[in-house]
Amino acid sequence: MTERRAEKILETLRKTFTMPKWTNSKRDPFKTLIVTIISQNTADRNTAKAFENLSKHFKITPEALANAKTNQIESCLKPAGLYRNKAKTIKQVSKIILEKHHGNLESILSMPFEDARRALMEFPGVGPKTADVVLLFSAKKPTIPVDTHVDRTSKRLGLTPANGDYETVRKSLQSLYDPKDYLAVHVLLISQGRKCCKARNPLCKQCPVDMLCPSRHLWDKND
Ligand code: SF4
Repeated sequence: MTERRAEKILETLRKTFTMPKWTNSKRDPFKTLIVTIISQNTADRNTAKAFENLSKHFKITPEALANAKTNQIESCLKPAGLYRNKAKTIKQVSKIILEKHHGNLESILSMPFEDARRALMEFPGVGPKTADVVLLFSAKKPTIPVDTHVDRTSKRLGLTPANGDYETVRKSLQSLYDPKDYLAVHVLLISQGRKCCKARNPLCKQCPVDMLCPSRHLWDKND
């Protein structure tokens, strides 16, 4: 039953939101890794600004960033917050890729999924979400990264356990969908979370999947 409801939710979200064009192609793995590190604990617009600053000052390659001065990386990353930690992580990760992985992530991304995930998570500052984003967007591996929107919306929709941790949510969602749909599930749940199922005041009355959502009555005060 949940599978059928899950399918209907995905079908409705596909009709409601447009998939961004970039999702049709594989993204540069190193750039994806750097953007995802910058995006930790900050809003998208701050990430975009910080990445734009970084791109203006440096080529986004392991070589350029491993050899960059830490304080220069820091000043580029200021809009994204936690810029000292993030600059340190970016420099360390770039150095490791340059020295131990021939300057790129190809050898890691060509490994089987679990091995590649483990190898990415050995980098400093790379947790499961960052690893999953790189694996999904840059290697088309079968995983669903769980960001704050995916976590919140999937729980409210009753697709994942209310108290589930990262791995529980990821695996529960994956068990409901075909791997060919994982990217769409990730992207569309984020759209749903940003535009409708907001953290504080979800817009249940305008929600495209309200009739499929067991939580809709919890926010009647917003109607
Ligand atoms: S009905 Fe409300 S709680 Fe359920 S998904 Fe829509 S906005 Fe979120």
